[in-house]
Amino acid sequence: MSYCPTCGACLPNRPPVTCPACGTEHWRNAKPCAGALVTDGDGRLLLLRRNTEPWRGWWDIPGGFCEAEEHPMACATREAREETGIAVAVTGWLGMWLDHYPSRHDPDHIVTLNTYYHAVAGEEVGAPDPHETSEIAWFAPDDVPDVAFPHARAVIAAWREAVAEGRTVTPLPDRP
Ligand SMILES: [Zn+2]
Repeated sequence: MSYCPTCGACLPNRPPVTCPACGTEHWRNAKPCAGALVTDGDGRLLLLRRNTEPWRGWWDIPGGFCEAEEHPMACATREAREETGIAVAVTGWLGMWLDHYPSRHDPDHIVTLNTYYHAVAGEEVGAPDPHETSEIAWFAPDDVPDVAFPHARAVIAAWREAVAEGRTVTPLPDRP
């Protein structure tokens, strides 16, 4: 059972729904997330091993939830830096994928809209956040392990194709 955050009345079903008591419309939208496909000078891909649930222990593409007023490109750069300890520079856009993120509070799970950028590795600026990451590693395109989150396999496949076709630098007119 969910309740109207405006008036507290019981809602007859999950959003999208109009509150029968006060008429407020409640919507359900995807949350924006961003990630970075970071490569080094040898064309190897940077992944981290997750140290948090969900998918703890799995290899993962650096990324996370966008802050309220944070452009996805800035989010991808920030998350890569926090989760791997490496400063990265975005060079191009790869694509967007929908997925679900398990939530204790929402049996339908959070819907995520995940946008991915190509990036190159810069300086090592510190240690990866130990709460997020247990280790980082570089992988050759043909040697990338299975990764966390269902959509990420499609991301890796698209990345591999973009690398093979030399499409890792794209116009970014929305660069923040
Ligand atoms: Zn209401």
